Amino acid sequence: MTLTLKQLSGNTYYIPGPVNIGVVINADVCLVIDTGLDKKSGKQILRCLQQAGLQVKAIINTHSHADHCGGNHPLRQAGAIICTSQLEKALIENTKLEPFYLFSAAPIEELESRFLMAPPSPVERVLDAGHCNLFGINLEILDLAGHSPGQIGVLTEDGVCFCGDAYVGETILQKYSMPYTADVSTALQTLQKLQQSDYKYYVPAHGQAVGSAVQIIAQNIAAYEQTLSQILSFINHEALPREEILARYITAHGRRFDAIQYVLYLSTITACLSHLHKTKQAAYSFANGRMLWYANK
Ligand SMILES: [Zn+2]
Repeated sequence: MTLTLKQLSGNTYYIPGPVNIGVVINADVCLVIDTGLDKKSGKQILRCLQQAGLQVKAIINTHSHADHCGGNHPLRQAGAIICTSQLEKALIENTKLEPFYLFSAAPIEELESRFLMAPPSPVERVLDAGHCNLFGINLEILDLAGHSPGQIGVLTEDGVCFCGDAYVGETILQKYSMPYTADVSTALQTLQKLQQSDYKYYVPAHGQAVGSAVQIIAQNIAAYEQTLSQILSFINHEALPREEILARYITAHGRRFDAIQYVLYLSTITACLSHLHKTKQAAYSFANGRMLWYANK
């Protein structure tokens, strides 16, 4: 597959695809934002940049999920340093941790798949929220935690905001009802922060680059709210264990799944329960060896 480098504004470009790749240039050098799922995507990105006469100096991984850092190696071999937040650094350097935390212990081997576990890569530079300069390129690093615990976004001097998976485009939203989320409370804060922002372009990793993201972010927030209220409706009249809440949610949405989809949904439902507990909308008790969740009245 041949990739195309498209200009968004000034020195800010992107390579559209299943995972949109950000490219910010300074003369004949550039940095990329995320690298796709695997070695093949990394090689394709490298070829695309080389054809444009660009030397890649840095990779910013918005977060540690395999489809965002799986292509790091070919670009690193070409001389790029890897940058991300402190928390995501721990995960990108130890990618075994992702199937581990999704399963909550040593995972079954089906979870050690390339979709959940990229090859580990060393992170040379930790990026905190705020201004940073990489190879003469000025950037604002945004804290977009929630989808992943230390997710970051990148705002370029041209007013383009690369949002990682802070929100997803309409097609993905319709497919999954509620996107995978590690921390619902912070994800909602991140979405509200993005909704109040006013950048020139918004580029989600999965979806269209748009001038205004107000509508699609509102749809993402609505998806969270629908899921939260659906969970509350399940536990309004009876106390249920987490797995039963998940089973009812999945049945209601007619989902079919494998081990990977199961743990992703289970994590998201767990994050919803944590949020409902934190906001005092739900509580738990123990009975007959089970942890049971119920809605507060
Ligand atoms: Zn992700």
